[in-house]
Amino acid sequence: MRIYADNAATTRMSQAALDAMVPCLQEVYGNPSSLYGRGQEAKEILEKARAEIAAVIGAEPREITFTSGGSEADNQAIRSAAEAGKKAGKTHIISTAFEHHAVLHTLEKLRKEGFDITLLDVHEDGLVRPEEVEAAIREDTALVTVMYANNEIGTIQPVAEIGEICARHAVTFHTDAVQAVGHLPIDVKKEHIDMLSASAHKFHGPRGIGFLYARKGIRLTNLIEGGAQERGKRAGTENVPAIVGMAAALRASAEQMDAVAAVQREQRDRLIRGLSEIPHSALNGDAERRLPGNVNFCFEGIEGESLLLLLDDRGVEASSGSACTSGSLDPSHVLLAIGRVHDVAHGSLRLTLGDDITEEETDYIIQSVKDVVEYLRGFSPVWRDLVSGKAEFIL
Ligand SMILES: *Cc1c(COP(=O)(O)O)cnc(C)c1O
Repeated sequence: MRIYADNAATTRMSQAALDAMVPCLQEVYGNPSSLYGRGQEAKEILEKARAEIAAVIGAEPREITFTSGGSEADNQAIRSAAEAGKKAGKTHIISTAFEHHAVLHTLEKLRKEGFDITLLDVHEDGLVRPEEVEAAIREDTALVTVMYANNEIGTIQPVAEIGEICARHAVTFHTDAVQAVGHLPIDVKKEHIDMLSASAHKFHGPRGIGFLYARKGIRLTNLIEGGAQERGKRAGTENVPAIVGMAAALRASAEQMDAVAAVQREQRDRLIRGLSEIPHSALNGDAERRLPGNVNFCFEGIEGESLLLLLDDRGVEASSGSACTSGSLDPSHVLLAIGRVHDVAHGSLRLTLGDDITEEETDYIIQSVKDVVEYLRGFSPVWRDLVSGKAEFIL
């Protein structure tokens, strides 16, 4: 059995997306900026895709700017708000400690440029408290940026409440919704969202394409200078096939959202029940306020990387959700942000389920994790110390 359980990293492209893209790669190859028929045909397709994407999140087409993905959208949103704030003498930005690095590293750069950055604590349940956002707002606050759903532990933030607070204080509100778009119902107007980032490859679209929603009236700063594409806010010939693929993927995801979420939620909860039977383990993040397909656990006395390699041998493709996998020895900043200590955070496992996950697959994952954890603990010196009482169990 081979089970892909790393859908938060990327997803398989849907047939709908592929079918929509092929004609754009071959026949409709005009440049949307060209005035003759072939160009205008591409332009029409491009604008139809923009309108379809806007409709899914309750936005207007002109409020959608295409980017190369979620990272670029995050960078552009934050840079834009920072620049607008600076002009008005506002140089304070509020965010959280468990954002994606596309947000955190942009903020770190702004800090060096003289901005004052407040990173709010995330509680043990993986949720940000709206009242703490409100308490952090100052006269000079230019931006609040809080992610919609966390990419490691899947917790869904109280975005509408935070949006309402920001609207009341006239502070721009951005949300990195890369893990939420296509998976959760979103209405940017009802939720008072001024800016939102999304990425196609997280909802069965192609890689290298995403979008930034920016409410009418928000001034965007260019990251890329050049031509007048995207109303002059993002230069470069539009990637029409990818954009059309993204629109098709999003439409399909929106149509199937409820059905997919029901399937995933059932298997997610089955996984949580099964993995909770492993002694000295703990679910990371709130059990209910989390993405339908996200499961994230810590197991004491083991090391996440070994767990992943042995699971891969058994055909289960998962992630530790931490920087370990990218060659760093630091544990996940997300797990540290919710209060896990270093040793415990090292033994983490993220399983992010596909749309058609079955009970049989879920049971196979549970058994595999149980076996591998027991095996690894069998020769772990850390585990030996815990069992012999030399060290104390935390979980
Ligand atoms: C994947 C991801 C990103 C980055 O998106 P790319 O399209 O890969 O650049 C940003 N934020 C979150 C929450 C993500 O999960």
